[in-house]
Amino acid sequence: MTYDNENIFAKILRSELPKSKVFEDAEILAFHDISPQAPTHILVIPKGEYISFDDFTTNASDEVVGRFFSRVGKIAQDIGIAENGYRIIANTGNDGCQEVPHFHIHICAGKKLGRMLAD
Ligand code: AMP
Repeated sequence: MTYDNENIFAKILRSELPKSKVFEDAEILAFHDISPQAPTHILVIPKGEYISFDDFTTNASDEVVGRFFSRVGKIAQDIGIAENGYRIIANTGNDGCQEVPHFHIHICAGKKLGRMLAD
């Protein structure tokens, strides 16, 4: 599978689509999910072209993967959700019901999130 440059998050990274930005640095972008499933629902994506969590952890360096997850944790602290808690999700591939083929982490918070898996 090759990376699709026309996926929604690639367009957001090129500023061809709008975003509600939470955080950005040289390697990552965090923005609000357009269809929030919790009071706080943020997406964190690497700027590199990785299709999925599997692609990212296979093909990005350990340093890049480590910095990415450090920043996910830092974002959660900075927006004030770490104390009450939150959930991170990486839908991956077909059975994981991944819709956008650019690796992303969901950060969901702001209420008791209930069961881990629906259905
Ligand atoms: P996933 O099913 O894990 O691939 O999640 C994709 C997520 O992207 C969904 O939660 C969508 O609501 C979200 N999404 C789709 N288009 C946009 C957009 N233009 N801006 C922000 N979030 C989006």
